[in-house]
Amino acid sequence: KLSRLPFKKTLDTFDFQRINGVSKRDIEEYMNLSFIEQNQNLIFLGPPGVGKTHLAVSIALEAISKGLKTYFMTAQELVTSLETADAQGKLDKKMRGIAKPSLLIIDEMGYLNLSDNGGHYLFQVISRRYENSSIILTSNKTFSQWGEVLGDGIIATAILDRLLHHSRVFSIDGPSFRMKNKSAE
Ligand code: ADP
Ligand code: MG
Repeated sequence: KLSRLPFKKTLDTFDFQRINGVSKRDIEEYMNLSFIEQNQNLIFLGPPGVGKTHLAVSIALEAISKGLKTYFMTAQELVTSLETADAQGKLDKKMRGIAKPSLLIIDEMGYLNLSDNGGHYLFQVISRRYENSSIILTSNKTFSQWGEVLGDGIIATAILDRLLHHSRVFSIDGPSFRMKNKSAE
């Protein structure tokens, strides 16, 4: 299936008590999916394990259940797939494919520094979708660190300018849930 979600989890299993920066009410507001209708973006920032991907997946599942075309990729996968398509002379076709879904999730921006042309591919994706469709993006890096991630501060600024124009940013903080079962509480 098109969506390629890494796992299927909903808000039912999400614990808002342990984290700061986002409330159940905040996310429920997005569950009506009007942000997609309005071509707005949603950004989850925060350290590993606080539930950024879980929240993105919850909203994606809702969008899919409403019949909205949804596509999930890590930033790394996105750049690599565009690079590969470019090398095969198929960049335009691939770009059109990535511009198409109503909702594109770009997960894990910042875990890996992207390759030399990564910023250029990402810029094209963000530009194509700007005011046409929605993005949910997750990142462990602050916006000021994107220049480093992309290896190009000017491209980073241009990407952020478009991405943030119509967006809501949640900066989440808290302990990693991946460590939860490993500590004696
Ligand atoms: P992140 O993307 O922020 O690194 P994930 O969303 O991948 O974190 O969460 C890591 C694991 O912990 C997943 O199995 C997820 O379901 C679980 N998890 C994270 N945050 C929460 C939370 N607030 N409530 C319940 N489970 C959570
Ligand atoms: Mg994640």
